[in-house]
Amino acid sequence: MTYWLETYGCQMNKAESGALEILLQQNNIYPASKAIEADMVILNTCSVRKTAENRIWGRIGYYKQEKTKRMFLLILVGCMVQRLKDQLQQRIPEIDIVLGTFQKQELISAIRAIRSKEKNICLTSGNDYQFSKSYNINDFKSFVPIMHGCNNFCSYCIVPYVRGKEVSRPAEEILSEIACLDTSGIKEVTLLGQNVNSYCHIRNGTSMYFPDILSQIADAIRNIQWIRFLTSHPKDFSPELIEHIKMHTQICKHIHLPVQHGSNKILSRMERKYTREKYLTIIEYIKNAISDISITTDILIGFPGEEEKDFQMTCDLLKTIEFNDAFTYYYNPREGTKAFTFEDTVPHSLKIERLNRIIELQQGISHHKRRKRLGKKVTVLVENISKQQSHEVLARTEHNDMVVFPGGRELIGTFVNVELVSLRGSTFKASIS
Ligand code: SF4
Repeated sequence: MTYWLETYGCQMNKAESGALEILLQQNNIYPASKAIEADMVILNTCSVRKTAENRIWGRIGYYKQEKTKRMFLLILVGCMVQRLKDQLQQRIPEIDIVLGTFQKQELISAIRAIRSKEKNICLTSGNDYQFSKSYNINDFKSFVPIMHGCNNFCSYCIVPYVRGKEVSRPAEEILSEIACLDTSGIKEVTLLGQNVNSYCHIRNGTSMYFPDILSQIADAIRNIQWIRFLTSHPKDFSPELIEHIKMHTQICKHIHLPVQHGSNKILSRMERKYTREKYLTIIEYIKNAISDISITTDILIGFPGEEEKDFQMTCDLLKTIEFNDAFTYYYNPREGTKAFTFEDTVPHSLKIERLNRIIELQQGISHHKRRKRLGKKVTVLVENISKQQSHEVLARTEHNDMVVFPGGRELIGTFVNVELVSLRGSTFKASIS
């Protein structure tokens, strides 16, 4: 049997898709080269924004149509399933199996049940999250989930409702997966969690926190050279963590720390649990402790109650901090979240106008920061052949900058020392040094 897997959303979904692929292949179900040839189509869904769900409804509609031409299983897993549960099959009975966030491991038994003539399987109850033994399907870099769920309940966010309460993966499980990856040619690992820096694993009465597990991993690896981690929350970003990042050369000097907004009024309505001043203190500590650090963030524009002066405070924050880059988006109400009950006071056109102003501002800052790095000699990990120029390879610095330089497929998965020569948009052009 063959499968076709489409993954939507965050790195955690990508990691879990890796674990699903391992599970399928352990049961002699292999990837099809095209969707139209697959015995089963699996959509690993996302629910973080309405736009994400709309995209998946589009795919469901396409595969519903395809089912009029040939027989195959249509399977949905993940956050959208966890939010909508059996509504999906009520609306589209052509969906054979739906598995919630906590039931992805049931995939094989569900496929067997459908093949023995059971109809429309829907498993979404229970919230006991099981970490998989391994998530890696790539041959030089791997995601390693260490946490799952989130207890923060930011007022606009659906994640705690679809991924549940925070669960920290046992340290020994993490270290054994890292040991396995370290001997299988992996060069870079990314530790994953919706709120990775609130990791806490208690064993024999001893608590292990995020800085501890990070250092244990850094001390344990021999072949893995780069450690990254995602996603952090400012309320748990301690000076101790910053010291651990500084102490270990293997920990990439790139921190992604979502601030979301620059106005305390809006931060409190978002229930982000920190103030603008607290966030600035953390950034100052990071910059003082680690000279050549890259800091990126997330910015959410157009939240209910946002006035021009609040928006200006976000612009001012970007100018003050000078992030290397920022992921920017505008607020859209998510049913099931606290903010969904707030009056959506910012008109859509104004959300777009403010988003474009923020993007333009940040692009200027990012470009200025990148120009300052020209002439630097850096190490990059080659990730792929460049989509634009087939005689070039695409690589990434430890600061998470994208770099292209002349090279062939044989360089993929290797570290190369290059000099940053010029810029092509937001990508550096380099030469091997
Ligand atoms: S920290 Fe807030 S935004 Fe992030 S996943 Fe948790 S609730 Fe959502």
